[in-house]
Parts: sequence; structure tokens; C-alpha cells
Amino acid sequence: MIKYIGNAASGGLAVGKIKVINRRIAGFKRVVLATHREKALYEAALILAKDEIRRLMRNSEREHQDILMFQLVMLDDNGLNVMIQNHISEGNGAARSVELAMEEYCDRLKNTGDAYLTERTSDIRDVLGRVVDILDGRSRERFVLTEPSIIVADEILPSDLASIDRQYAMGFITVGGSYQSHANIIARTMGIPSVCGLDSEILNPLNNGRTVCIDGYAGEVYINPGEGTVGLFNHRIRQEQRAKVSLQSLKEKDIHTEGEDMQIWANCNDPKDIALAVENGAKGIGLVRSEILFMKSSLPTPESQYQFYCDCIRAAAGRPVTIRTFDIGADKPVGDISPDKEPNPALGMRGIRLQYRHRELFAQQLRALYRAADTAGDINVMLPMVSLEKDVTDYMEMARQVKEEMLSAGEIKADRITWGVMIETPAAALISDRLAQHVKFFSIGTNDLTQYTLAADRMNMETSAYYDPMHPAVLKLIEITVENAKKAGIKVSVCGESAADAANARVYADLGIRCLSMAQNAMIPVKQQLLEKYAQNN
Ligand code: PEP
Ligand code: MG
Repeated sequence: MIKYIGNAASGGLAVGKIKVINRRIAGFKRVVLATHREKALYEAALILAKDEIRRLMRNSEREHQDILMFQLVMLDDNGLNVMIQNHISEGNGAARSVELAMEEYCDRLKNTGDAYLTERTSDIRDVLGRVVDILDGRSRERFVLTEPSIIVADEILPSDLASIDRQYAMGFITVGGSYQSHANIIARTMGIPSVCGLDSEILNPLNNGRTVCIDGYAGEVYINPGEGTVGLFNHRIRQEQRAKVSLQSLKEKDIHTEGEDMQIWANCNDPKDIALAVENGAKGIGLVRSEILFMKSSLPTPESQYQFYCDCIRAAAGRPVTIRTFDIGADKPVGDISPDKEPNPALGMRGIRLQYRHRELFAQQLRALYRAADTAGDINVMLPMVSLEKDVTDYMEMARQVKEEMLSAGEIKADRITWGVMIETPAAALISDRLAQHVKFFSIGTNDLTQYTLAADRMNMETSAYYDPMHPAVLKLIEITVENAKKAGIKVSVCGESAADAANARVYADLGIRCLSMAQNAMIPVKQQLLEKYAQNN
């Protein structure tokens, strides 16, 4: 047996077989060779891209299968192939030729003025981007699991989790990542144990198929464990399951305080997750990270966005649902949308800051949100990474224009969106009195608020000693936010990961917060603590 100690990234225990996914193995390199060799590389990449797409289709939902089928057909398009071959004949490398042809082809489609064809350009970019990535040695292969496995990888990307089959993902063990990285946040919302920060020797392919025990609470990993260790883990897993069952009685219980009731909401990734959270007693959904839509196997179309939001609203069965507008950037880069290279991505073009650069994308999301609310019911929508009052006023002006257009075109009958702002920069907390004039609620994102207040990168394990959501400076900013929300008569909640810690939840309650939103497996333990805190009222 070999024991590894890493960092606890998502609580939980599991025993299973290892699947190593080593994406450090590079494919072809971008070097311009003789024309006939570049053509051969292109042909080979085409075959690999088609294989990847066919594999994705087998694991996709119906709607994605149609998009992938279109992408597959595009790879056989004669006109496109001739264009690429011509660029190679002119002396360009295979990858560059694909990119040149992609631009030409997309321009042609846009110039037709046909809305349907213009929309298809995102699929063309996606599928040709796959070919370029293969030629550049960047694998875009998603995690395809066919049996229950514990995944060992260099790093798990948020996009891997968006396409993963939950029933087969028993745990994650990674070399990179941190507790606050988005992939681990999503793993926590999915209830999948995860340990990060392990030595890269764990990627050894010989580990494939070996038995492993993973303890996501302690950050421990046991490869080739003895019978005793496996027995102990299985015992602890059964104990956990029993404890969960015995706490189920708390699920519908209200938490009365001396004033307003305390509400426990859930952070969710998709409609299935929302339905489960509701079943587990969530009184509302405090955060749906809509950028997750970009991490699926293909880019969202306006229709698929609309469907996704409608499904979220319906899954919540009348409880409030809060969708956050795209928070793309920093550790959630998305193809052409986030800037290529920034010296400090976390301080760069992220979230609402991209509204000026990608107005059409944000307007498209707005249209989908207005339509979904009109069809399926009221929603809360909130803006991420706000640091200026102008971030909010400019966005709200765009929202007003989109809404007016839709109302006068008869595309919607009414405006059923309630607007909010995420407080996740110190600037937003300090000007929360002004921000409160423009919206109806604040949601405090302590993950980023902590990172930006303490100048401690949430992705960097080395600065984790500085990264403390309970630091007096962070609490002071929360206090200011709560005070300003109360003065303005608007709601305030916490949706950062720290709300999932029962001890922190008590502190937030003392600061006057009456709504906490968290990964759903934390809801009952937090509820238990708060019921204890307010025992005399319950
Ligand atoms: C936060 O910053 O606390 C938050 C909830 O947003 P994210 O973790 O997606 O950045
Ligand atoms: Mg954030």
C-alpha cells in the first residue's frame, strides 16, 4: 500500500478503481513541414477529431447529439476541406491553415445575413478548434467514463465536470488545483470526494485499474490498500450513510431566529441538481453559474440557453432561482471569449467586465433569460465581478433596451426578472450603498471577496494561509454590505463556499445574514448547527 497526502478539496470517502487521465502527453507539434506532410498531419487530425466527436455523441443528451452531428458533417464538407488544403499548398502549417479557412468560412456565413447560418459559426469554430487543438497537441478529449472510477489526473477542468457522467465519477485525485478552484467547487456541489496537490508520480499509467481509497476530508489517498484499510473505509462510508438518513428529518425544518427565519439555499449546476436540492430541503437556489453552459461539449445556442433556464426554473418548483450572468475569465477561460493572455487573469477581463467586448453574447443571454422567465416563472439574475457602479448601470441599460425590444416585438409579455449584484470585490462592498440603488438583492461571493481583500490567489495552495474568509477585513466588508442592504431595504445572502462551513454560518448569522446558499450536501449539517444556535426559538 502507498499512502499519499494531499489537500482536502471536496469532502467524502470512496473506494474504487483508478482511471488515470494523463493529458500531459502531447500530440503533434505546430512546426511547418513539407506540404505533403502537413496535409498528412491534417488528415490524421481530422480522423482523431471525428473519433472524439463520435465518442462524445454516445455520451450526450439528444439536443447535444444534433449539434455534434452537425459538427461531424462540417468536417466532411468538401468546400471547407479544399480551402484548408489550399492554404497548406501555399506553405502554411496545417493548424494555421485550419484557422485561416475557419475565418474565411465563418465570414462567408455571416455575410449571407442569414441568422441561422450566422449562429452556426460558433459550431464551426468549436469543431475546427478541436482539429487545431489536436494539431497543437492540446487534447480536448472529455472524460469519458464507462464504469465507476476514481479519476487521477494532472488537473480537472470545470468543463470536464460539465460533461461527466455523475454515476461513474466516484472521486478525483489531482496533481494541480486548489480547494477554491472552480473544478473543486463544482465537485463539492456534485458531492464527489476530491484530493488535490499530489505528487505527479501518481499519474503513472501503472496505477490504472489499481484499487484506491480516497478521503476527501483529510486529503488522504491509499493506493493498493490492504484489506484492513478497505474494510475501515467501507465501514466509515456506511456510517456516513446512516448519519445522513438520521438527519433527513431536519430537511423540512424551518430555522426560526429572534427575527426573520434563516433560509438555507443551494448552489446548483443544472436542473437535475436543482431538483435534487429541492428534494433535500433547499428553500431556494442561490447560485447557478451560467458559464457552465460554455463548458459543455458545444457552445450554447440561444435556444439551448433558453431551455436550460426554463428547466432550472421548473426544477425549482416555485422556489426562487438565482442565475448568475456569465462569469467567464480567470480560471474559467472560454475559447475566443476570454482574452488570450493576461498577466494577471484574476484581475483582468472577467465576468461583467466582458460585457463591453462581447455585447452580443450578453444580449443573447439576456434575451434567453427574459424569455425563460416569461415562459417558466420569475427568476433572480445577478451580476458577477462588479467593482464599479458603472458596471451595473451600463449592464442595466443594456437589459432595459433588450427588454423594451422584446416587449414591443411581442416576444415577452412581462418582465419577470429581479436583479441583484454579487459582492465579491472589496470595492463592491465599500460602494454597496450606491449599488443598492440599482438592484433588489446582494449575494456575497466570499470566494472572490476573500481572494481580492487579502490579495491571496484562490488557486494557489502556497498562499492558502493568507486565504481566510473569516479574516476580520473580510468580515468588516460583509458587515458594511449587510448594513447598506438593510438601509436600502434589499435582501442579502452569502453564496461563497464559506457558507457551507457550519461554524462560519454561525458567524454570518451574527452579522445579520438570513440566507445562506451552499453545496447541497452541506445543507443539513449547517442547518443542524443553526438550529442548535437558535435552540430557544425552535
Ligand atoms: C464567489 O466568488 O464566492 C462565488 C460564489 O463565485 P465563484 O466561486 O464562481 O467565483
Ligand atoms: Mg466569484
